[in-house]
Order: sequence, then structure tokens, then C-alpha cells
Amino acid sequence: MRTSAKPASRTGTDGSPVFLGHFGLALAAKRVIPRASLGTTVMAAQWADGIWPVFVMIGIEHAEIRPGVTVVTPLDFVSYPFSHSLAADVGWAVLFALAYGTLRKDWRTALWLGVLVLSHWVLDVVAHRPDMPTWPGGPRLGAGLWNSLPATLVAEFALFGAGLWLYLRATRARDGQGSALPWAFAATLVIIYLAAVFGPPPPSERVLAITGLAGWLFVAWGYWIDRHRATVVAGTAIAARGLAARSG
Ligand SMILES: [Zn+2]
Repeated sequence: MRTSAKPASRTGTDGSPVFLGHFGLALAAKRVIPRASLGTTVMAAQWADGIWPVFVMIGIEHAEIRPGVTVVTPLDFVSYPFSHSLAADVGWAVLFALAYGTLRKDWRTALWLGVLVLSHWVLDVVAHRPDMPTWPGGPRLGAGLWNSLPATLVAEFALFGAGLWLYLRATRARDGQGSALPWAFAATLVIIYLAAVFGPPPPSERVLAITGLAGWLFVAWGYWIDRHRATVVAGTAIAARGLAARSG
């Protein structure tokens, strides 16, 4: 335990490892694979960060909290070969695509969801310092965008803003919830992100893992949003998965 770690404030969001760029790609994916719910695309883009807290909790992956290790995040990813190595993420991408394709019989969408799972590794290599394993025990990569706060903020908000814009254009609200929910989702993510970047670091690896699990709430939220928005194709709205057929 590092004594340099500042105590956590009481908001409960401190240091929660939510990064906006992954959500930007999940939102943008709606344009390419409109039949996949936003919940599914968030799950795919966030897959590595979704399983990571579980592996930390059972003790097979490790992170330390070291303020200053990068400018943006105090997290030192000591070991995470099962959630964040290229080899493992290729495996997860194939499994994700196979699961979706088998369940939904839509292999084009399944293929893109696999790409989305793998996109997480690519974005993380850009952001992280060289701690991203190629395979368990293999060389570690990282371009270190997190060493620059301005560059990180520009990249994260550009990806997220573009993704949100694409999602809102690819869909339309079917009711009041459909209008309000995407903005509430975006605002909550931005607040949590800014709290993680500018707030105090998490007090322990265990708290970090627990707050990390909260990322799954955004998967559920994605399904909720998607149920209240219809997919727009060539100027008309079609029913997502046939649910809106009654209203035309
Ligand atoms: Zn990650």
C-alpha cells in the first residue's frame, strides 16, 4: 500500500477507470451495425475493462495506485495478461463474435463486434505507457498519450463527441426517454471521467476493482437507451429488431 495515495472523496466515482474513447467507438458502431443494441456495442468496446476488475478481484491480475505514474491516471497496470494482452483480446474478440453470431444468426454484425472488442486493445496501446502485453509474458507496448493531459482530453472528447453525434444521427427518439437518455448517459460518463482524471486516486486496488465493475451499468444503460430509439436508414425510421412495427 502506498502512503502517497490521497484519501478518496465521498463521491464514489474517484478513479473509476472509465475512458471516453471506448464509449465513442461503441456509439459510432451503431452506424455500421445498426442491428446491434448500444448495450451490446458498449459491452464489446469495454470488454477488456469489464472483465479486468473480476480478474483483479480473484487475484490473477494486479494494479497499483501510484499517483504520478502518468499525468492522466495514477493506475500502474502491473499485470493484466488475461484482460489486456493482444493474444487474449484476439481470443475474446473471436469468442464474442461467435457468441453473438450463434445467438442472433447475424454474422456481419458479429464480425464487427469482434473488431470492436479488439479496438479496445488498440486504443489502450495509444493511451497507456508501455504496459500493454502482446501475449502473457511477451513484450509490452504503449505510446503514452496519458503523459500529456491536453492531448488526452482532446483525443478522448473528440472520439466521444464524434461517436455521440454519429449515434444520434443513426437513430431517432421513439419517446421522451429516447430523447433524454442519451444525454444523461453522456453527461454521467463525462462527469465520472473528469472525476477520475482530476479527482483523488482510488484508495486501494480492491476499491478500484469494485468501481471498475460499475462499468457494467453502462452496458445495461445502453440497452435501455437503445430500446427507446429507432434506427434511421435513408431518412426513414425502421424498427430496431422489429419492436416498433406497430407504429410504422
Ligand atoms: Zn482497457
